[in-house]
Amino acid sequence: MKQSIGIDGPAGAGKSTIAKRIAAILGIPYLDTGAMYRGVAVAAKRHGVGFTDEETIAKLVGEIDLRVRYTESGEQHILVDGADVTGELRTEEISQGASLVSRVPAVRDRMTELQREVAHEQRVIMDGRDICTNVLPDTPYKFFVTASAEERANRRYKQLLESGQSAEYDTILHDIIRRDKQDSERAYKPLYCGADTKLIDTTDMTIEEAVNAILSEV
Ligand code: C5P
Repeated sequence: MKQSIGIDGPAGAGKSTIAKRIAAILGIPYLDTGAMYRGVAVAAKRHGVGFTDEETIAKLVGEIDLRVRYTESGEQHILVDGADVTGELRTEEISQGASLVSRVPAVRDRMTELQREVAHEQRVIMDGRDICTNVLPDTPYKFFVTASAEERANRRYKQLLESGQSAEYDTILHDIIRRDKQDSERAYKPLYCGADTKLIDTTDMTIEEAVNAILSEV
């Protein structure tokens, strides 16, 4: 396996922005693993399966064909049974759904398998919640990117307003805290910063500073 780069951390810490920049600088592909869990949540919704119906979710993940594809400009798309569901991934319902279906061991094991296949073929940078602790434990390049819940909520709030959408800071903060709790307290492969992983707290950092902190290590 090539020496890929893993970035873990809670929702809204800036992982994907940082990972995308590093991918562009190093000229390697970026894999957003959260989008894959979101794809499973979309599949559940399309099949009318509740996000907490763990038994049916486990069965479903063994039946669907989930694929990651890149456009010519390098944008990542998620296909479920041949249908491009990328446009459906970024709603609050699917964020919550992804966090719920990601607790199911069969879902995590399948996504881990798919992610390792990608990393087996080429050097990549991937971000998620269990990349350093589970998917790529042997890579020397492991990072945990975080920020305070308030700062993460604030960034998301500004992002929504800037894109012309309505937003309520308190609701965003509440959703972030709920997802942090679910992701870090789940029984199977929870989110945590391993002892051999470099912690990068971006609360008082710019994206550039965080990117440079990682680049200086790799
Ligand atoms: O990163 P993103 O917010 O898109 O991830 C959505 C959800 O997918 C997370 O809240 C988490 O529950 C789950 N996830 C995971 N493991 C990963 C990536 C995402 O459990 N490697």
